[in-house]
Amino acid sequence: MTGTRGGFEALDPCVHCGFCLPACPTYLATGDENDSPRGRIHLIRALERGEIQPTDRALVEHLDACLGCRGCEPVCPSGVGYGRGLEAARVRLAAAGRLPLEVRAILAVFARAWLLRPALLLARWFRATGFPDRLSGHSPIQFLLGMLASTTAGPSGSTPKPAPATRGRVALFRGCVMDGLFGHVHEATRRTLAANGYEIVEVDGQTCCGALHDHAGDRAGAAALAEANLRAFAGRADFLVVNSAGCGALLKDLPHLIPSDAARALAAKVRDVTELLAAAGPRPGAPLAERVCYDAPCHLQHAQGIHREPLQVLNAIPDLEIALLPGFDRCCGSAGLYGVLHPELSRAILGEKVAAIAAATPQPSLVLTGNPGCLMQIGAGLRAAELPIGVAHPVELLDRSYRAAGYYH
Ligand code: SF4
Ligand code: SF4
Repeated sequence: MTGTRGGFEALDPCVHCGFCLPACPTYLATGDENDSPRGRIHLIRALERGEIQPTDRALVEHLDACLGCRGCEPVCPSGVGYGRGLEAARVRLAAAGRLPLEVRAILAVFARAWLLRPALLLARWFRATGFPDRLSGHSPIQFLLGMLASTTAGPSGSTPKPAPATRGRVALFRGCVMDGLFGHVHEATRRTLAANGYEIVEVDGQTCCGALHDHAGDRAGAAALAEANLRAFAGRADFLVVNSAGCGALLKDLPHLIPSDAARALAAKVRDVTELLAAAGPRPGAPLAERVCYDAPCHLQHAQGIHREPLQVLNAIPDLEIALLPGFDRCCGSAGLYGVLHPELSRAILGEKVAAIAAATPQPSLVLTGNPGCLMQIGAGLRAAELPIGVAHPVELLDRSYRAAGYYH
């Protein structure tokens, strides 16, 4: 929960040591101290004290250029809560009318299911024509097509055999982009959890988590969506399972938007799908003799502190060779709307990751990661580099292994 200073107090422990600079993708890309965590903390403190106005162009530029990846937090010896401080600053910028028109338009669509659903339906239809797959490439438009093509499902399982549900009732958080473009990941989530003894509960009335709104500084928009989800999920299951790292981070942090006991109770039930599967063992599947690499989403590792669980899930697949590439723990440059608003910096940051994947010997067949934005960003980057490497969520691979093991018919 934010304090009386709206979250700015989270920056107080900063002693300006600079240990965070080498962990910051934007500082590494631009070399500008104002694009580093330490530089931004200076700017945010000046904003809080009123020494810089929220309309100051340089301030807005350098805060906008922050990915919000929170890669600076785990390396900070003083325990600075950079993400919370950044949110406080963005709330102040948004209140001063500094949200660009295109951001306001996108947030308005994400807050209204009756607008978002037809848009995602259109995207699915266009994806099914095969054009995004054939036309993806390097230019900005081709890159966007590559992002859409990267949401395509791989081979999947079918109906799980009835198995005794002994590990508890689980409500699936369907989200917006995940529901619209990654329905195959939801199916894999349902099947693999059922195969591990969880009972899946479908909950109506749920909506977008509001992470995009929260990160943009639209606290009221985020809180309205959080209230709707709280009404839908309260008291419905033992766990609320999420397979999108960004949504999971927001839902675990629900009390900062709604400071109530009900929000705290729901937040305590939120689990990433890999957390629940890891807690179950998970049940071993059939061998898949493939080489894959894992890339850690920022909102899984830095925001939720989940490191081992996705690897524990993948270790349930015999013969699977799993590589962690240099920079696997660094942001891919996706970061919500960042790739749309800062395409050049976003692509420069992605370039480092794609180069690391390209340099791997032997090359992986798949890059696995547990967040829709990362799947689309890395998938489009691999397509633009013409590398024959796919992207998938870790539960999709476990699903394939389970199907091969005969857990599904
Ligand atoms: S945020 Fe942490 S690591 Fe970075 S300058 Fe401040 S104290 Fe040092
Ligand atoms: S959140 Fe990411 S981009 Fe922003 S200052 Fe921290 S490390 Fe840099």
